Amino acid sequence: MSRRLQDILAKLQERDYKLTPQRQHVVQVLLNHTDKHLSAEEVYGLVKAKNPDIGLATVYRTLELLSELDVLQKLDFGDGRSRYEFADETHHHHHLICLSCGIVEELEEDLLEPLEHRVAESRGFLVTDHQVKFYGYCRACRQKNDA
Ligand SMILES: [Zn+2]
Ligand SMILES: [Zn+2]
Ligand SMILES: [Zn+2]
Repeated sequence: MSRRLQDILAKLQERDYKLTPQRQHVVQVLLNHTDKHLSAEEVYGLVKAKNPDIGLATVYRTLELLSELDVLQKLDFGDGRSRYEFADETHHHHHLICLSCGIVEELEEDLLEPLEHRVAESRGFLVTDHQVKFYGYCRACRQKNDA
């Protein structure tokens, strides 16, 4: 069992949940696609390919549970479906969303900490989190349009 899977198992057990085989299938699919931001339907399709017995409702419930436990982070890129990725407590990233092809790229640098400090100073508001989404056109789409 991978380190990550052990951590997830521990988080579930802390709250008296079991890592049932079905939950494990869902987690495994997400672990196999950490570079993607899969929707519930996409997770379902991938799990079902190997485990035909699983139902979409089970996948939904598992994703909701894992989001509540902060194992997953639920994302909304404005395309009408929730997407999921592993929540990372130490390092978070922002997303670049292409309005043309829909690709979602990750932006690793977080340039917003100075802004959080300024808000704390000027408004006396302690910022503990923020969410940013950048909408626009990816490099490939821009090159296509230039041609
Ligand atoms: Zn694009
Ligand atoms: Zn991401
Ligand atoms: Zn940030």
